Amino acid sequence: MKFLVINSGSSSIKYQVIDMTTETVLATGLVERIGETTGHLQTTFYPGTDQERESVAEQAIADHDSGMRSALALLTDPEQGIIAHTTDIAAIGHRVVHGGEDFRASTLITPAVLAAIERNIPLAPLHNQANLDGIRVAMEIFADSPQVAVFDTAFHQTMPPRAFHYALPYALYEQDRVRRYGFHGTSHRFVAGECARLLAKPLAQCNLITVHLGNGCSMTAIENGVSVDTSLGMTPLEGLVMGTRCGDVDPALHLFLHQNKGMDLVAIDAMLNKESGLKGLCGLNDMRDIHKAAAGGDERAALALAVQTYRNRKYIGAFMAVLGRVDAIVFTAGIGENDPFVRAESLKGLEAFGVRLDPDKNSGHTGEARIISQNDSRVRVFVIPTNEELAIAREVAGVVQG
Ligand code: ADP
Repeated sequence: MKFLVINSGSSSIKYQVIDMTTETVLATGLVERIGETTGHLQTTFYPGTDQERESVAEQAIADHDSGMRSALALLTDPEQGIIAHTTDIAAIGHRVVHGGEDFRASTLITPAVLAAIERNIPLAPLHNQANLDGIRVAMEIFADSPQVAVFDTAFHQTMPPRAFHYALPYALYEQDRVRRYGFHGTSHRFVAGECARLLAKPLAQCNLITVHLGNGCSMTAIENGVSVDTSLGMTPLEGLVMGTRCGDVDPALHLFLHQNKGMDLVAIDAMLNKESGLKGLCGLNDMRDIHKAAAGGDERAALALAVQTYRNRKYIGAFMAVLGRVDAIVFTAGIGENDPFVRAESLKGLEAFGVRLDPDKNSGHTGEARIISQNDSRVRVFVIPTNEELAIAREVAGVVQG
């Protein structure tokens, strides 16, 4: 049984074909620079196996429809493809960024679901529109396969009002749904499930803090298996220090920048999203480059590391207070999975709260899910690789198989 997982962006489509019987990836692909003069098409068949082979092409890709059709042509290629016909795809999962308050779970896409995703466009203008473009094209091309929307926000719809409300005039919530939603939900849910398995305890009895540190960063407090608070807010800008996004700042900053620098709101928003975070502090946003620079004596790179890890620690402390009892802290995503320094600094000084990292286990690297706390640590600490495509595919299986 083969599932197709699609992540459609404004100028790109990323996809994977996963054999759900064995949960193995049959193909992974990327269509980039849609709408530009030369687009880029890349597909890897059987990645990570000895049968791995790659197909790369540069060609104009006018729109999402032609991008998806080009990808399909490769997947059904009689010589090297992995499916014979579109009907070989049993179901399709679409990543959708913003489900607003309409979706608490992944759902089969119907006209009403499309309308609700469209209704939520104001909350994530770039993302939701691009996600919809991908869905519409896939529904045309794979007309016989059930299509499922998997929302970044859905996992966090269990947050209680005290956690999701901003202290703003209530009418803004009633009229415009201004509130905190949270993102990266598919990843937080996936690693929480894996962690419960490692703890040999039902997820519904687990209290966890899941720490997703990639280009985007977020942290979630999970109580009895459900999200009760998370660091990202109405948009993916609040909370932790990210690659290029600022995380928490004083909301009065906007007026200051407008009055003192003559910046308009669009320029301020672009700066906070694209020129801030680690990049704003030290000019670099790839963590590996930041470590190299810091090791070479670059003080701003060291500052960027200090600011990010301090913010992580502050949020871990806050979420420990939210949860009371914490069974485990889980690190995931590019930085969370690979960076022992960031993990150690983010947990520094938390021994009094029952967190005892094992330095040897922390510095080891396996690429597998593993425990990195000492045997007597009251709060266990894990590194668990996230796999958003597999997580989406499992969600799809849950929806289509009931
Ligand atoms: P995205 O949010 O785009 O999915 P990833 O989860 O792939 O991002 O994370 C990207 C981040 O992970 C980058 O900052 C990158 O430098 C960092 N990263 C990847 N490998 C390592 C490593 N070995 N050590 C430290 N950081 C790493």
